[in-house]
Amino acid sequence: MTASGQRRALVLFSGGQDSTTCLAWALTQFAHVETLGFDYGQRHRAELDCRAALRSRLTMLRPAWSPRLGEDHLLDMTVLKQLGASAMTDDVAITMQSDGLPTTFVPGRNLLFFTLASALAYRRGLDVLVGGMSQTDYSGYPDCRDNTLKALQVALSLGVDRPLTLETPLMWLDKADTWELAQQLGGPALVELVRTETHTCYLNRRDTLHAWGYGCGHCPACVLRAQGHQQWMARGAVSRTPG
Ligand code: ZN
Repeated sequence: MTASGQRRALVLFSGGQDSTTCLAWALTQFAHVETLGFDYGQRHRAELDCRAALRSRLTMLRPAWSPRLGEDHLLDMTVLKQLGASAMTDDVAITMQSDGLPTTFVPGRNLLFFTLASALAYRRGLDVLVGGMSQTDYSGYPDCRDNTLKALQVALSLGVDRPLTLETPLMWLDKADTWELAQQLGGPALVELVRTETHTCYLNRRDTLHAWGYGCGHCPACVLRAQGHQQWMARGAVSRTPG
């Protein structure tokens, strides 16, 4: 068992590709893992509907994972919608704003998510918070950046007077690396689970199964996921070439 083997984690688990990969990662790292989802009136509600099936399918992938997976929690975060419209929650076109951020940016979202996660972790006796944020391949959301989350880790630990660790295993990975991480953690079965059972599309479309999964194929989330999958497949082709 690793040094972190006795630690207890709470994974921010939306039902998307990244948080599902993070959940598999946490199940390899920690003795006990609980999951937390947020209903903030997101247009891509389909991802919330994927969560229960994903949790149950993950426990079947590796014998060690099943006893580690604990309770699931879902919090109502529709207050985010009251703070203002975004393309993530309302019928707003996905475009670039004058400040260089896309209209899918929901200000404060990850700050609030982690703050609530720290409160739940306190109640549940959990000491690690895991999130799928990445600075490499996202849309420049400032609350996905490493410095933001490092500062938040300090603030939250002080605020509950307990050492809380914020783990972001995808922080320096791109989308192709995230597919590769799934392959390393759970082999082809996990890759297939991520491909067919997770949801990414901002427009909530699940009618067409592509090589990279379900989605409209055109929104920024679909494009990122599809490109990452294509790059990862191309890398695989290179590494499989004899000699
Ligand atoms: Zn889409």
